[in-house]
Amino acid sequence: MAAQADTYTALVNQPLGKRIATALGLPQPAVLRRYQPGQALVEGSVLVLGEGHAADEAAAILLDWGVDVRRQPAPADRFGAVVACYDDAGTPADLSATTLRLGSVQRQLGRGARVITVFRDPAATADPAARAARRGVEGMTRSLAHEMRRGATANGLVLGQDTALSSAGATGALRFLLSAKSAFVSGQFLPVTAEAGALPADWEKPLAGKVAVVTGAARGIGAAIAETLHRDGATVVGVDVPAAGQALAGVVNRLSGTALQLDITAADAGQRILAHCAERHGRLDIVVHNAGITRDKKLANMDAARWDSVIAVNIESQLAMNRAFLGAAGRGTVAAPLRIASLASTSGIAGNGGQTNYAASKAGVMGMVSATAAEMAASGGTINAVAPGFIETEMTARIPVATREIGRRLNSLQQGGQPVDVAEAIAFLVSDAAGGTSGQTLRVCGQGLMGA
Ligand code: NAD
Repeated sequence: MAAQADTYTALVNQPLGKRIATALGLPQPAVLRRYQPGQALVEGSVLVLGEGHAADEAAAILLDWGVDVRRQPAPADRFGAVVACYDDAGTPADLSATTLRLGSVQRQLGRGARVITVFRDPAATADPAARAARRGVEGMTRSLAHEMRRGATANGLVLGQDTALSSAGATGALRFLLSAKSAFVSGQFLPVTAEAGALPADWEKPLAGKVAVVTGAARGIGAAIAETLHRDGATVVGVDVPAAGQALAGVVNRLSGTALQLDITAADAGQRILAHCAERHGRLDIVVHNAGITRDKKLANMDAARWDSVIAVNIESQLAMNRAFLGAAGRGTVAAPLRIASLASTSGIAGNGGQTNYAASKAGVMGMVSATAAEMAASGGTINAVAPGFIETEMTARIPVATREIGRRLNSLQQGGQPVDVAEAIAFLVSDAAGGTSGQTLRVCGQGLMGA
């Protein structure tokens, strides 16, 4: 996997580089704590704040995971995480006590710490005061994420009106946000609106026994996704164009998976994937629509070839393949529940000059995901998207140096993400532990200012 080095981040984490950066007031990005098998879920104890039911549930879940849980902070405590629960907030005045207590422990947060706010879906109440309170938690969390230092992050876990934090999907989401797997996710909200899903027997192998198709697996983010799904226990089917056949074989051979050389814009792409999975593996549980292309030009200079190819590869192909997969769901090869994840982009959220075609396709992915979720709900299947911000890949390495340097610093973590950061979010969303989340787009962008 070709992770590009961020020389500046390495430099300012050396004593001399740090002194120079401090003297000149330059950004000092932290080296992020990333997931390693066997590592502790969090470093240090976890403080649980709030007076409602969710706080009691959070404490019980964390104790069950062997975490050192505190309900009251002591001055000497060093916290790996704070879980601040607002599930009982009925009016904005109710936010005060928990928020001010959260503020009072900010200096006790360790390197790479997590703040997770837990609150109910604003859209699930028609009461103006309650919705104002819930939206208030969002605003507070987003702003706090901008204030975090030393690789720490702040995110929100949004519960449906009747969804308990102790349900499998909410518990799974809590664990993802607490863990080092969410290193490049900050200022984001993960909605869990259904009491669905299941927790794994082994948290180190949450995809054991699953067969997962990854398109565009020959390099970049797709190769990282293939590796991460394999690490989590899945058998991987890598798909890429015949021209990338050699690189694809290199990736899947390392992972004891199988390769399918296929242009995903072919009319029979979905059927060919189904046939491959039936023949080689006897099943299909997970599909990751990762393959994507850019053909950048200002709209004034856009030609049909550039526009049409981006729409065809990035979204029309996914719509067509999903029709084939959903048509076969729960029968023969295709498992119920089927789990699908798709790659969007923050360009599809904020727009980006020169990318009208790409942004149309990636906003299209988000629309497709939210509409397909309803269709998949009956079978218990889920579909979600991940919108990466600036990720260090061959694609972004080609950006001119000044633009690249601005692109990678303009987020709360002051650095580009790694392909594995996107892969971790995908691996979580296609796991049964994310079964309560569907139709959503999770940004993996370090709280990028572009697209905020
Ligand atoms: P990449 O160009 O390095 O890799 C894309 C892979 O998809 C290649 O192996 C390519 O051969 C394959 N592919 C392209 N067209 C195909 C087709 N018709 N059929 C089958 N395979 C095809 O790209 P990447 O940077 O790894 O990006 C992966 C995904 O993430 C894309 O959807 C991209 O839009 C998205 N994304 C990337 C970034 C980033 O910063 N790199 C940011 C946001 C979104």
